[in-house]
Amino acid sequence: MKKLFNPTAAELKNTPEAFLREISEAVMIFIEGESTDRTRGLVTLLHGNEPSGLLALHKWLLRAEKPLCNLICFIPSVPAAILEPMFRNRVYPGQRDMNRCFFPPYDDLPGALAEEILELFEEYKPECILDIHNTSGHSPDFGVVTYESREHEALVSLFCDRMVVTDLRLGALMERSVRRCPVVTIECGGVDDAGSAAVAWNGLQKYFYQEDVMTLEHGHHMDLYRHPVRLELKPKTVIAYADSYVIGTDITVPTTLDRCNFGTVERGQLIGWMGSRMGRDCLRAHDANGEDVFERFFELRGNQLMTAQPLKLFMITTRPDIAIGDCLLYAAEEREHQVVDT
Ligand SMILES: [Zn+2]
Repeated sequence: MKKLFNPTAAELKNTPEAFLREISEAVMIFIEGESTDRTRGLVTLLHGNEPSGLLALHKWLLRAEKPLCNLICFIPSVPAAILEPMFRNRVYPGQRDMNRCFFPPYDDLPGALAEEILELFEEYKPECILDIHNTSGHSPDFGVVTYESREHEALVSLFCDRMVVTDLRLGALMERSVRRCPVVTIECGGVDDAGSAAVAWNGLQKYFYQEDVMTLEHGHHMDLYRHPVRLELKPKTVIAYADSYVIGTDITVPTTLDRCNFGTVERGQLIGWMGSRMGRDCLRAHDANGEDVFERFFELRGNQLMTAQPLKLFMITTRPDIAIGDCLLYAAEEREHQVVDT
């Protein structure tokens, strides 16, 4: 991994694209702050197709300003991001998803990189860490955390008001969150959504300059969504996105399904049209305990896959490769949605 300390304009190049092409591998950037006895952590581009955090960071670095305290930043998935077309590949072809590698074994390239990032965080001891992403489908902004805490809520609130509390364990960086160094994931909104850049920029400005980022502003309301499940495709499932069933597919998903992201959907919301391998032959939905919850969340009416109860859906992807490689969507039961008044 390359390491840059207070990089110069020449090192940063004029554009984030030129900078990444020049660097061509994972990079750590350390910026000295006004106060050098505290450090904050930042990771972005763990997924090569999710650039909002990187674009905001690069724009800010070019200003050569001093943040309030030291910053240690990691930009891991540079090799995936710079494959043409730029910012299209979530992972480097043939490798594991970088954000599933933050627990042992670390015995492949992304695992070794994750281990090195964790070791450097251990060495530099940031007081907190942000991991900035985008969703692949259209979506509003939200944060994801692995347990409820005031510090998590405060960090997410720098960017947005929606917070998913997940008990699913996949090996993501945020699962490393501990009281002495909270870690949160920020989803700035869709890769192609016009507002995502501003979400990343405005949130990072607060993160770089605000004295206290771990106390929620008095009266700030956060919407919490608890215990999401993932709707996953079983291996060898054939998926397409279209406005009606595509012959030969196991599931065809409406192209506009991502409009449902964070809207409340009622029972009977169409998720897709199934082929001859019906529902559970090619789909699975397990909760954090590994319990099969497919029938509680979803039902089949004829060849139509529908929601079986009112749900909050999020992270709905409109990319077949991501639906297969990761999951089609996350769903949380609407009764779990609570507004917390702080
Ligand atoms: Zn991501």
